Amino acid sequence: PSAAAAARPGTAGSAALFERAVAVTPGGVNSPVRAFNAVGGTPRFIRSARGAWLTDVDGNEYVDLICSWGPMLLGHAHPEVQAAVADAVARGTSYGTPTPPEVELAEEIVARAPVERVRFVSSGTEATMSAIRLARGFTGRDVVVKFAGCYHGHVDSLLAAAGSGLATFAVPGTPGVPESSTALTLVLPYNDRAAVEQAFAEHGDRIACLITEAAPGNMGVVPPEPGFNAFLAQTCARHGALFISDEVMTGFRASRLGQWGLDGALEGWRPDLVTFGKVMGGGFPAAAFGGRADVMHHLAPEGPVYQAGTLSGNPVATTAGLATLRLATDEVYATVGAAATTIRTAASAALAEAGVPHLVQSTGTMFSVFLTDPADGPVRDFADASRTDTIAYAAFFHAMLDRGVYLPPSAYEAWFLSSAHDDRAVETVLDALPAAALAAA
Ligand code: PLP
Repeated sequence: PSAAAAARPGTAGSAALFERAVAVTPGGVNSPVRAFNAVGGTPRFIRSARGAWLTDVDGNEYVDLICSWGPMLLGHAHPEVQAAVADAVARGTSYGTPTPPEVELAEEIVARAPVERVRFVSSGTEATMSAIRLARGFTGRDVVVKFAGCYHGHVDSLLAAAGSGLATFAVPGTPGVPESSTALTLVLPYNDRAAVEQAFAEHGDRIACLITEAAPGNMGVVPPEPGFNAFLAQTCARHGALFISDEVMTGFRASRLGQWGLDGALEGWRPDLVTFGKVMGGGFPAAAFGGRADVMHHLAPEGPVYQAGTLSGNPVATTAGLATLRLATDEVYATVGAAATTIRTAASAALAEAGVPHLVQSTGTMFSVFLTDPADGPVRDFADASRTDTIAYAAFFHAMLDRGVYLPPSAYEAWFLSSAHDDRAVETVLDALPAAALAAA
């Protein structure tokens, strides 16, 4: 071990907690991607976080490139968000009645995003589940179209793998999901217009909605090809189906207006429904779905489609989200974007220097690094993403972790930054990259 590594406090505290965790929780984690199954080893247990930095229970510090899987756009423990939350908590934490901050947050979202009405829920999973129910209720149709490699939370009907042919219905993607739950889901390859056209030609009058990540980030970042989202919106409109843009990850993150700010706002189209989460909750469990007023009007209590939640629109969570969105100015996105450009350029240079085949793909301030041969072309869909070298990534990941950089413990994830990733944080990442690239070679 290097002198720097030898001087680090070790990881005995995390190891001890992980042993206890495994005894009481499957895999020792409350969401599978937090485990190190894909990269080996045991996850670090984080005691506190501030700005761009995580501190584990042993006292190791890491530059955080996970940012809670997206939400922490302003960095951890932002003083103004903390103060707003403390103030909200002091007045009680949940009333089961309407509250002022949920109105203010809804107004903020309606002002920024292509939605006329919005309903709050507590997770992105609930948002997509509810949006699909609403689309089915509104259209009176049953079939849902999704893309392979797009993750929309653990909704039964969306945990679906492609069937045997292009426009054939899906099979369950996990045990525990009955075949009947995916029997109305069509799974298509991303960025594939012909597949979309075929699916709508064969099943158009049965399709309630097409749901897509606005720009996929859950198979690594796979940007929509120019005009692809517009094509999806038009195809849905032509067949009387709703276009659901899942901006849980990209919303208020890829740009101030989400992925829509990078395509729809410029091209002049709007999705029928949009799902949000992550950044809009400011680090609390808050998510939402929204869209056209005439569609949202079908939700209870205005309309017949039922949807509800004990903690939906929770005053502490919506206060945190409101404080975060109000602070998320153009300047914040410029700062995050600049840090992202510096880090992805340096990662690419270090990997090139070490002779590691790779591709860096981005959309707005979001990016990811694929350890895959660029000679095979860009990563356009899930099949392309699956070529990434997960063994090389595991070596890269651990070399970064040993040097104080906490990357996502999976080769198929975006690297998330915040406006708190200042020069010291960025330089720590840059310093770690050359050795990590060599480890991946
Ligand atoms: N949709 C997208 C695009 C996501 O990235 C995620 C989570 O990563 C979800 C939905 C589900 O959100 P949650 O984990 O809050 O249920």
